Amino acid sequence: MSGYVGSVLSRDKIDGETWDELEEALIRADVGVATTTDILDRLRATIDKQGITEPQALLDALKAQLKADLAPGDRTLRYEAGAPNVWLFVGVNGVGKTTTIGKVGKQQAEAGRTVVMAAGDTFRAAAAEQLGTWAERANAELVRGDEGGDPSSIIFDAVQRAAARGHDLVLADTAGRLHTKVNLMEELRKVRRVADRDPGKVTEVLLVLDATTGQNGLVQAQQFTEAVDLTGVVLTKLDGSAKGGIALAIQATLGIPIKLVGLGETVDDLVPFDPDEFVDALFSEA
Ligand code: GDP
Repeated sequence: MSGYVGSVLSRDKIDGETWDELEEALIRADVGVATTTDILDRLRATIDKQGITEPQALLDALKAQLKADLAPGDRTLRYEAGAPNVWLFVGVNGVGKTTTIGKVGKQQAEAGRTVVMAAGDTFRAAAAEQLGTWAERANAELVRGDEGGDPSSIIFDAVQRAAARGHDLVLADTAGRLHTKVNLMEELRKVRRVADRDPGKVTEVLLVLDATTGQNGLVQAQQFTEAVDLTGVVLTKLDGSAKGGIALAIQATLGIPIKLVGLGETVDDLVPFDPDEFVDALFSEA
């Protein structure tokens, strides 16, 4: 949005052009039309009420509003002592699920938890190999099955293994593609049911979204929400050409907290989502 910020500030008043520019800026940043309209309607009401006439004050009000919009929601990764906690990672192919599991596993291991990784994406042969590499780095156990095997049974095995050995966490990869979308969603529901059976307990269902896919991410989020109760979103690839506005659309439309953000391919490139930093970065003129 940086180019637009300069332009809005270059005029000495708020006029029709200012609003047009803000609208264009938000839409181009992948915020989406509906959320943009809502954001600007509320901003208009605020500046009327507060008698704001300066472009800088207008931008400050917009930033404050966006930060407040993104603030609600518990962003901590839920963990309940006593049972192997299962964190399911769902999302379409290529968004970064496997990589994210690897990063989370390594971070959790560094924090002192013992981790089992379940290679539930049996439709993609390379996924289990990739997860295996991460499991080594995280000193985690890997549970995998045959290619094309039943993901639920792999995750079931992983929970059994974790319970038997007193491990804390099962991080479960899932397929991002099946023959039909209906099949995929049914599969995920089944995986969740199985993972939640005693002795396991599903405490996180994280949707992994690729920020570079823009508004497409919102459609994916809606579809996955219908199938499995999501507890949070991981927004990956914010380091590249991603514009990031999708974060605002997800929060506004679905109210699911964005918990983690991916900023690259190494373990340190997964960080907690910080709404204030995010909004400041969106507007920075650097
Ligand atoms: P999956 O199909 O959802 O399991 O996706 P993968 O984990 O295999 O990731 C797909 C590609 O995206 C890989 O090349 C990853 O290295 C890359 N990737 C994942 N997360 C990030 C990120 O936060 N930033 C960047 N730049 N690349 C990422």
